[in-house]
Amino acid sequence: MSVNDSDTGIPMTTCPACSNLVPSEEYCGACGAHLASNSPGRHTAYAADPSEHMFHLSAVSTLFPHLPHRRSAPFRLALLVAGGLLVVLGIARLTGPAIALAAIAVPVLYVLYLWEVEVYEDEPVTVTALTFVLGILLGIPWAWFTGPIVTATLLGTVIAGPQPGKVLLAGVVFPLAAQVLMLLGPLFLFFYRRRYDEALDGFTFGAASALGFTLATTFVNLWPELRLGLVTNADPATHTLTVLERGLLNPFLAASTTGLIAGALWLRRGKVRSLAAHGWTTTLWTSILVAAVVWVVLGLVNVSVLSTGVAVGAYLLLTMAMLLWVRVALHHMLLAEAVEVQVGPMEPCFHCHRIEPRMAFCPHCGIATRATPKTGTGRLRRAFR
Ligand SMILES: [Zn+2]
Ligand SMILES: [Zn+2]
Repeated sequence: MSVNDSDTGIPMTTCPACSNLVPSEEYCGACGAHLASNSPGRHTAYAADPSEHMFHLSAVSTLFPHLPHRRSAPFRLALLVAGGLLVVLGIARLTGPAIALAAIAVPVLYVLYLWEVEVYEDEPVTVTALTFVLGILLGIPWAWFTGPIVTATLLGTVIAGPQPGKVLLAGVVFPLAAQVLMLLGPLFLFFYRRRYDEALDGFTFGAASALGFTLATTFVNLWPELRLGLVTNADPATHTLTVLERGLLNPFLAASTTGLIAGALWLRRGKVRSLAAHGWTTTLWTSILVAAVVWVVLGLVNVSVLSTGVAVGAYLLLTMAMLLWVRVALHHMLLAEAVEVQVGPMEPCFHCHRIEPRMAFCPHCGIATRATPKTGTGRLRRAFR
């Protein structure tokens, strides 16, 4: 039964999921549940972009969670153009431009995303650039040191059969150590920049650090190809698959796993509520386990599979699985972060533009307020810290 709020006159209703008295609209502004269908998990409406399903395969709305849906088209187009250019350069067997584009395409898009949504307008340089640059600085020596060992292990496996000690080192220890290195920048911020307390803060720092790392490792790992001349002798299909893997799949994977772990870490910094279902998808240990499995599988592929097609196929499958998993985890993290029940002032929603009472979720479109830019319309007054 609906009643009107005595102060604002807004029609109110009791949410069947959280039992709070909330504005009577499409979504519960307190817990994010879809009111009409009484769905606390509302999997058809991703918390960072309710116009998409939680299981929607999209690199843009997954890795750029603060980006409003209406401003995502240029980013989708840019990714398509980058992918198309990598294919053209791969088929043409041009090494230099292909390597340069593979190294910088996704990191540059990420910087443009941060600039576009002004996630951290108040502290832009120190926060995100720090993790990004640290990722680059760690990636250079790492790739220089491990690259030749991984290649030698692969050749040894193919010629003389697998040698357990070497496979364990290059296929298991190296990828796990690389994941730890990608987390160092976010960990530094976790301990020395305590003012950030949202899961998506951690995700942003993790993704930035990982993209700095993959930028460096791509350059260093592919550098030997450059020394052989402007045009490679490699088969065009092999070269194309290699630059697509290094230019798109590897950065997506690194940003996903590192962002996921950092997001789970930051989630515990602020207040969280326990979810009735799927709460396990948000835990730090689940995130670490998922990331470790992904990197060990790929590490073993790197040191045992000679066929570029098969190896890139494995990267593609795991990238798609990781992008979907990150959405599941971020969706539930955003639901778990909705702790305080407060019907705030009427302000335009950053996502749907309707004038709505400011709450943890927009009562009209269901977007999590924490998935909108901190400096965006309606988020200037941070009632939910
Ligand atoms: Zn509710
Ligand atoms: Zn809205």
